[in-house]
Amino acid sequence: MTSESTDNTEITNKTRVENVIIVGGGPAGYTAALYTARANLEPLVFEGFQWGGQLQNTTDVENFPGYPDGIMGPEMMSQFRAQAERFGTRFVTDDVDRVELSDGGVQKVFLGDEEYRAKTVILAMGAEPKRLGVPGEMELAGRGVSTCGVCDGAFFKGHRVLVIGGGDSAMEDSIFISKFADELTIVNRRDEFRASKIMHERALEVENIDTLTPFTPLEFVAGEDGKLARVRLRHSETGEESAVEATGAFVAIGHVPRSEVVKGQVDTDEDGYIKVVAGSTRTNLDGVFAVGDVVDHTYRQAVTAAGTGCMGALDAERYLRDSAPPVEAHWFPGGEPAALEIPAGS
Ligand code: NDP
Repeated sequence: MTSESTDNTEITNKTRVENVIIVGGGPAGYTAALYTARANLEPLVFEGFQWGGQLQNTTDVENFPGYPDGIMGPEMMSQFRAQAERFGTRFVTDDVDRVELSDGGVQKVFLGDEEYRAKTVILAMGAEPKRLGVPGEMELAGRGVSTCGVCDGAFFKGHRVLVIGGGDSAMEDSIFISKFADELTIVNRRDEFRASKIMHERALEVENIDTLTPFTPLEFVAGEDGKLARVRLRHSETGEESAVEATGAFVAIGHVPRSEVVKGQVDTDEDGYIKVVAGSTRTNLDGVFAVGDVVDHTYRQAVTAAGTGCMGALDAERYLRDSAPPVEAHWFPGGEPAALEIPAGS
């Protein structure tokens, strides 16, 4: 058994009981890390193999306060991460395989067979793109069908592309992809668009973008080369079927919360979003907090995710201050009361 390291880049003694483990490396997780690190809680963040969350797939972020000229999503996430690291956050750049959550006891997080323990856990796994669930969608992923315009748009230079969806994601993806595609059609299942007026107008102003409504995709069909050749559509009102030639299709119809790893262990709503006590980040389990898009199906902004990340950190800090450490924690290094109760310098 090794002693606690003062080198915060070293991962951790796996038999130690951490004050706080944070699961997720987006704006919410990194903000929770920043605040808990500044409270001397030495957070351990499982940031995921593809750290940075959804902003890693975004270009310009123009609506995060403090960046009047905008900032690129990946650059902003690097800065979030660096700021958390500056105060002693440790990172594991991998996806958590399993958790064992407890009501007020030791919380356990697993990477394969490796077990990590903590007195509190902050769940910040975010959300991921929603799928249509139609034939060809998964089969042709990477061969014409994508869910990330910013990641894959440049591969469609000179192509005829469809973007499915009518929200801000569809508008943003369309504007980006239209820089590469020859022709781009936004296919929406209703005549009305859910997107904000400004984003919708910006998309419509682009010369090579048009819209097709009200249609729902039925199937993505491959050509002889095994790549996407056309998309079968159904008119949402008449039910009439038709097909549109396209060698690129981007599905931009929203997101689902990434809560599978805690499914059945913590209360979620019917869509899988983790439930928290109103005005807090507390779940139904003592010592388990949830923040960011895995909780929020309303706002889903980087700034709101960061805000709830801060709330989660403060809730965890208060919990550690006000609760006796779990009895079983005494068996392990770190099982003493949280560091924030120990006078500075001791
Ligand atoms: P939204 O939920 O806002 O929009 C989803 C769109 O996909 C809707 O048009 C919806 O249709 C359609 N849709 C959903 N399911 C299906 C389906 N099975 N078949 C066909 N169409 C379907 O998601 P977004 O990802 O666009 O946006 C999420 C949040 O993120 C919003 O708050 C948005 O403002 C924000 N955002 C902001 C951006 C920015 O400011 N730069 C960029 C991107 C997102 P219907 O309307 O009929 O339900």
